[in-house]
Amino acid sequence: MANSNFFDVIIIGGSYAGLSAAMSLGRSMRRVLIIDSGLPCNRQTPHSHNFITHDGEVPQVIARKAKEQVLRYNTVNIINDLATNGSKSDNQFTISTQGGLEFQSNKLLFATGIRDTMPAIKGFAECWGITVIHCPYCHGYEFRDQNTAIMGNGERAFHMASLVSNLTGSITLLTSGEADFNFEQKNRLNHHNIRILETGITEIEHENGKIRNVIFNDGSKTSFDAVYAIIPFEQHSHIPVSLGCELTEQGHLKVDMLQKTTVSGVFACGDNTSMMRSVANAVHGGNMAGAAINRELSEERFYPGLIPMDAGLPNLPQEFSLYQAF
Ligand SMILES: Cc1cc2nc3c(=O)[nH]c(=O)nc-3n(C[C@H](O)[C@H](O)[C@H](O)COP(=O)(O)OP(=O)(O)OC[C@H]3O[C@@H](n4cnc5c(N)ncnc54)[C@H](O)[C@@H]3O)c2cc1C
Repeated sequence: MANSNFFDVIIIGGSYAGLSAAMSLGRSMRRVLIIDSGLPCNRQTPHSHNFITHDGEVPQVIARKAKEQVLRYNTVNIINDLATNGSKSDNQFTISTQGGLEFQSNKLLFATGIRDTMPAIKGFAECWGITVIHCPYCHGYEFRDQNTAIMGNGERAFHMASLVSNLTGSITLLTSGEADFNFEQKNRLNHHNIRILETGITEIEHENGKIRNVIFNDGSKTSFDAVYAIIPFEQHSHIPVSLGCELTEQGHLKVDMLQKTTVSGVFACGDNTSMMRSVANAVHGGNMAGAAINRELSEERFYPGLIPMDAGLPNLPQEFSLYQAF
């Protein structure tokens, strides 16, 4: 009797990246289970930008439409649960969930995203994605020509300042400590009239996420319309690392051009693999992962034994077309 808990692919994470992969796999008639805990990183942002055909759409509307389209393929299933543990034996994966369920699959895809670490500043989390923003491509246009701050220091803050200076002429860098810029960088910042404030921040005063003032440790305050914040992150799920998947220096899951992690049979896509955080990039990664997983499953069935599971892809020449891989 067929085991109803066995799938070709289990996708952990059912947001933009996971749903995009599920579509490729569903259209390839793969039995897919998506396990999703329903906490995408952009859930607090009122409008999502820079994803063609959905520019300015409410994030949940994009996700709902994606889910509806994916679930039209009747080999795709989704459950709302948290995957808590994973193991691998005999080239099969077992995933257990907080709800007490257990599932097996041939392949595993992590589309689990990342978790932003909010600083201990009163009001910061409430403004996140509304007026405290992470990305000029996603939200910069909406705050063009407005009074803007960048919370951060060093190379990344300098880089952010160069991008944001194209959008507004009013920028203050909030370094929360001694500014970490070299002589040339300080000159450049000065040249573009970018102020530096080194005083620590205690609070972001706001109304429903709309910033009024940034309040500093010394009691002073300055009003801003928007604050770009460069904050740390961690992987949303610990399971890939527990299975042996390697991370990059920045903390992303290491993947090759076909979204394969360093563990055979395990793939990853979306924010958990890339610093290019955007819905478009997540959808692209999922699309690629879906096709690459389907290719592996097809080959393993079509000529079993010829390609060892752990062989991975050959070293591809620079000019190798991606299409040859599918
Ligand atoms: C505040 C904010 C605003 C943004 N605005 C924009 C914008 O305007 N335009 C744009 O293009 N991009 C925007 N982005 C970036 C964009 O939201 C992300 O790039 C995109 O959501 C990444 O998709 P993903 O599927 O990789 O991860 P996510 O969308 O974060 O989804 C990950 C999913 O995996 C689930 N999950 C994690 N662990 C488990 C587990 N163990 N078990 C089950 N489920 C699990 C989570 O619950 C979640 O549903 C924004 C990001 C942020 C933080």
